[in-house]
Order: sequence, then C-alpha cells, then structure tokens
Amino acid sequence: MSQYASRLGARRGRALGPFPKPQRLRLGAPRRPRRVAMLSVHTSPLHQPGTGDAGGMNVYIVELAKRLADINIEVEIFTRATTGALPPTVELAPGVLVRHIDAGPYEGLAKEELPAQLCAFTHGVMQAWAGHRPGHYDLVHSHYWLSGHVGWLAAERWGVPLVHAMHTMAKVKNAALAEGDTPEPAARVIGETQIVRAADRLIANTDGEAAELVHHYDADPGKVAVVHPGVNLDRFRPADGRAAARARLGLPEDALIPLFAGRIQPLKAPDVLLRAVAELLDRQPSLRSRVVVPVVGGPSGSGLAKPEGLQKLAARLGIADVVRFRPPVGQDRLADWYRAASVLVMPSHSESFGLVAIEAQASGTPVIAAAVGGLPVAVRDGVSGFLIDGHDPAGYAEALARFAADPELTPRMGAAAARHAQSFGWEASAAATADVYTAAIGERRRRLRSVHV
Ligand code: UDP
Repeated sequence: MSQYASRLGARRGRALGPFPKPQRLRLGAPRRPRRVAMLSVHTSPLHQPGTGDAGGMNVYIVELAKRLADINIEVEIFTRATTGALPPTVELAPGVLVRHIDAGPYEGLAKEELPAQLCAFTHGVMQAWAGHRPGHYDLVHSHYWLSGHVGWLAAERWGVPLVHAMHTMAKVKNAALAEGDTPEPAARVIGETQIVRAADRLIANTDGEAAELVHHYDADPGKVAVVHPGVNLDRFRPADGRAAARARLGLPEDALIPLFAGRIQPLKAPDVLLRAVAELLDRQPSLRSRVVVPVVGGPSGSGLAKPEGLQKLAARLGIADVVRFRPPVGQDRLADWYRAASVLVMPSHSESFGLVAIEAQASGTPVIAAAVGGLPVAVRDGVSGFLIDGHDPAGYAEALARFAADPELTPRMGAAAARHAQSFGWEASAAATADVYTAAIGERRRRLRSVHV
C-alpha cells in the first residue's frame, strides 16, 4: 500500500469509525528520502542572484540540491515559470531537476501578487506528481512562506513530511525596518504562522533564528532544527590573491576598497556604507584619491521603488567620484570582487544569515557587518572582521579607518577569515539537512505505526 493510501485509510478510520483493516504497513528503520520535492515558488534557482527576487535563497537551493544529489538524494525543484520560452524541465545538475510551473502571467507579477497564484501553482505541482507512481516524492522541502503554503497541501496529499525553511520572517523584518521602509503585510504573518504549525520540521539558519521561530511564531522547539548554510569553497577561495584580482578588475593596487555586494534595498543598508565613506573622507580628505567603493548588485524589493536612490545619495554626499555601481555578476566574477576588496561591508538591518559575508571571508577578505541575525555567526568579531552595533555610519567609518590606517589589517584578518570560512562547506549543510529529513520521516512512520497497531 502506498504511503498516501495508508494515510488516507488512517484518517478516514479515525474520523468515521471502523473501516476495512488496512494492509500491513512495512515500517522499517527510518531512512533517508530517495527523492525530495523542493519548492521555490517566487524565484528560480536558474535566476542570476543579486538583484530582484533572486538572492541568497537561490544560491542556497542550488548548492543544497547539488550536495543532496551527491549523497544520493534526488531533488526536483518546482518554481514558477517567468517566461514562455522555458522548457517544462531543466536538469540543473545530475540528480537535480528544475520543474517550471505555469501559474499566472509570465511577466509583470510582483512577489506581493503571488499569494493569488498559489492555487494555480499547487495545481501544477499536483499535475506533475500525478504523472508518477505513488510514493515518487518521499518528502517536501519548501523555501519561503509562499512555497510553504503549497508544500503544506502537497505533503498532506502525498502523505509525506513537510520540512520548511523560512529564509526570512515578516515579524523579524518588521521589528528591524530601515527608516521609511515598507513593512511586511499581516497576510504574510498569518501565512507564516500557519506553516509553522503545519510543518513537520522547520530548518533555521542559526540558533538565533530558531529562537525567533519560537518567540515570534510559537514554534514547537522540538520541531526546529538548526542547519548553518554553507559556502562553495571551490569557488570562493583566496586563489591568486588580492593584487591579481585587482588587476583583472582594473582596480588600483593600493586602494582602500570597501565592497558592497547583494540586492540593493533599504533592508541591506548600502546607504550606511556610503554615509560611512563620506564621513571617513570628511575626517581624512587625503584618502579620497585612494578610495574606491564598488556596489555590486541590482535593485530589489522595496528598493525597486527608487532604483536610482543610491546613485542620488552618492551624489548628495559628494562621493559619486569614488563609488562604482556594477550590475550583478556571476559567482566566479563575484569571487574576484571579494578578493579584490580590502573589506566587505554588510550593514544590514536584518539578515537571516548573510551568505556574502561568508563568501567574502572564504575568498580571503574580512568583513565589517552589523551585529544582526546570522552575521555574528558568520563573522568572528575582532578576528575575521568587525561587528558593529546599530547603523550609525560613524561606527562603520571608524572600522573603515582602521583598515585605512593599517595596510596589514586586510591580509591579517583576511587569512583568519579564510580559515573561519572553512567550517561552512555546503557538504556539511547537506548532511545535516539529510539528517533532518531522516528524523522527519522516522517520526511520521512512528506516528503511522501508532495509528495502525
Ligand atoms: N550574488 C551574486 N551576484 C551578485 C551579487 C550577489 O551571485 O552580483 C549572490 C551572492 O553570491 C550570495 C547571494 O547573492 O550568495 C546573496 O545572499 P545573501 O545571503 O548575502 O543575501 P540575500 O539575498 O539572501 O538577502
């Protein structure tokens, strides 16, 4: 009997009284799933991260899925088709398939409009599933609350566990909004609360995020597992060093280069970096000729409302001559930007982990980061960089001044940063995620067993 049928039997039996005795279930020792349905409704693992809706979650899904496939867990990633030209399926890597689901018009739908397309998306997922034998997917792993809602129904229908990762949470974001930024709507809070209740397991990036799930959403602590995200250590490594990377990017060899990389939106506070640079140059005007501030990434989220906002701010602050805006780049190129930088600056208001912080460190570059969310886990204060409390540009200017004053600080902290990053490989994240899957499957089997004895 399939898991689905046995589950149905159990449910009907409970609700309506005696039913024909279900066939004997074969419930062996907990095992790893063979195939996982991974859900990423609003953004595709095939999109370029660093702009729009594509960021750390996309990288997370790609890297996790590949490493799961390496340990014999096949992954099928369901995502919304955003152009008509996409084939129904794309093989991302051996054992990792991306399935494009038609749900709403291809273009012109903002993430905020996607709740109205969740039924259509779920329909597409169910259609894909209907083409397989029962038991095709052993588990659903949903990412972000929109996917959680689809996963909730799919997992229940298939009789398999739902493992969910929030990535970001409305209540956490709203508690740390940048000045004038738009709060997340109540509907998202309600949706997240429902998923916390429905999921068999919740994966949090850090202990802090686990505590937030319990505190803000009343999650059962026994359901929350902490799995640190990783970094691709083959791609992000010091390689041939800072001077060579600067030469490739056409950057001056002896410049002070504080780098911002990622989605440009108020939550990420790139404005704090620009204000800090302006403050530094006010204090030490002689530095101007040897400061370059690259901003690599594109507008995203509420930053889309003012796509030129940061450029205008640079002009207002009188530092347009030192800031270089660059569109998002592929990760191999991004690794060169990290290597070239004196320091990566991440003044975010909220950050569930902060992949760029760990990627920069793996590339041999220290980090100045706000002490929020996962960043105190990603950055070792005083060793691989500096953590700053709050968002006063003065604190960031002071930290930048230390790098300006001591040219040895970047290589010294950079070496420590590269060592620190070694403990964040995606292999470890995938192994820990597989353990969460096994635990969720085991628990479900125990529950089924108790119903059937
Ligand atoms: N990124 C990229 N190209 C860019 C800028 C960023 O590929 O030009 C990637 C970067 O490597 C990182 C991700 O975007 O993996 C951003 O992740 P992070 O956790 O820092 O922020 P999020 O987008 O999740 O808020």
